[in-house]
Amino acid sequence: MSYIATWADQKLNANEISKLKEDGLDVFKDLPELVKKPFSEVDKSYFMYFKYAGLTVQKPQDEGYFMMRIKIPGGRINIKQADHIAWIGEHYAHGVIDLTTRQAVQYHWIPFAELVDIFAGIENVGLTTVGAEGDITRNVIDNTLSGIDPDELFDTRQTVLDVYRRFQGNYDYSNLPRKFKISISSNLYNAADAEINDLAFVPATKRIGRHTVKGFNVKVGGGLGMKPYLAQQLNIFVTPDRVADVAEVVCRIYRDYGYRRSRSKARLKFLVKDWGAEKFEDKVREYMPDLQTKGRDRTKGWNNGNALGVHRQKQKDFYYIGVSVPSGRISADDFKALVDVAREYGKDEIRFDHCQNMIIPWIPADKIKEVEALPIFEKFSLHPHLIADYGNTCTGAEYCNLANTLTKSIFKPLVEELDNRFSFDSPLNVTMTGCGNNCAHRSIADIGVEGVHARTPDRQHVPGFKLSVGGSLVNGGHFNEQLKGTFSQAQLADSISALLADYRDNHEGSETFYEYYSRT
Ligand code: SF4
Repeated sequence: MSYIATWADQKLNANEISKLKEDGLDVFKDLPELVKKPFSEVDKSYFMYFKYAGLTVQKPQDEGYFMMRIKIPGGRINIKQADHIAWIGEHYAHGVIDLTTRQAVQYHWIPFAELVDIFAGIENVGLTTVGAEGDITRNVIDNTLSGIDPDELFDTRQTVLDVYRRFQGNYDYSNLPRKFKISISSNLYNAADAEINDLAFVPATKRIGRHTVKGFNVKVGGGLGMKPYLAQQLNIFVTPDRVADVAEVVCRIYRDYGYRRSRSKARLKFLVKDWGAEKFEDKVREYMPDLQTKGRDRTKGWNNGNALGVHRQKQKDFYYIGVSVPSGRISADDFKALVDVAREYGKDEIRFDHCQNMIIPWIPADKIKEVEALPIFEKFSLHPHLIADYGNTCTGAEYCNLANTLTKSIFKPLVEELDNRFSFDSPLNVTMTGCGNNCAHRSIADIGVEGVHARTPDRQHVPGFKLSVGGSLVNGGHFNEQLKGTFSQAQLADSISALLADYRDNHEGSETFYEYYSRT
């Protein structure tokens, strides 16, 4: 992507200047020669380019290992792809696969010298790491259940693929100010978390002439990170066949007018906040003047994409099963056992949701009891625990260069302990991140736990945790609010229990945790 005149209005940060010298996507041209060198000879200034190949240099940063993420549009893979995902985990990633909060998978311990072969294998099964990280369009997320969902307005799978293909490997949009996240869903319960994405398409209907047409309303400018914003609604309705065009126009505006001076203020949300939804929409209409005004929003509530347990599909006589993967981390052996269930009972398909879980669709009704009795489901319960199985965790200090604290190893015993202490009627979302960057969507959790640096009374640095309560994406969304005080790891279970006990003892009727904390 060459220099664009509108960028002249601002001083470019160091990453921007580097991206003008070499496009991020060119990392794939460099790699065959680069991997012949010892990793110690790779200049640190090159590390940002690895991102475009879905790679982050793993700490300690001089050892030549990477976190690698595979992009999976809509979180849907076939059995051959699933087998290969397991194979990479076994052969390169110490037998471990992590599921992400964008329906993708990632690994640790990917060796520098093997990158070219690893990428060839991934491409061979029709998957890619291109643009899984970097200043580019990231994995497009969808309603996990698209095509099988009794609660969807229509099937969105083709629309997701259209958008993915429009941007994938596209040098016109490979130099954005920062990452760009798109959500597409026609689920009536906001299954793809529209308001925390840069660009979201939400289910709507519109009377056009004598017909009621199904399509999407459009929201822009959401995102989490250190400074979270909820996406704002534009007065636009779009039919599925034009979604990729609208996505391209929004991305083009972001590319041309987005902020490139400071990376901490470069996401689309800052431009939308400064311009306001109206000015942003005017700009979209400069490129697409014939867009309809917004339709009737068909969203009825928010289910956070929750699909755990055994459920009927919209297709008569078929079920899907949502398998909770605690903390999103699964061994390659367990992953293979679940793939075998899909191979034997399903239809060449596995899905990932954005809550770090797996879905196996297309189980015939007359086989569902047999499937439920399989030994693998003694380990991965199909009767989810209402706290432990509904929270997310980010990578944390085990591998993340930015983390203040560990996450996954702390989270699992914590939420299991909470499930031992409490028994609620509906799920409660406790989510933990290792810093304020919000990668696991802490700000929209019922209870968010954020790792921070704390100090003991004698001024020693220790890990600490901040708690926030009352997040939700109901009715356009509300971020949770941080409580005073910092808690040690040992205090976490009791501190969170105090909040849960307050809710248990005082909420009215079917009031949710979010509703209770909004009222009190
Ligand atoms: Fe790392 Fe912080 Fe993101 Fe967790 S939230 S993965 S600690 S940057």
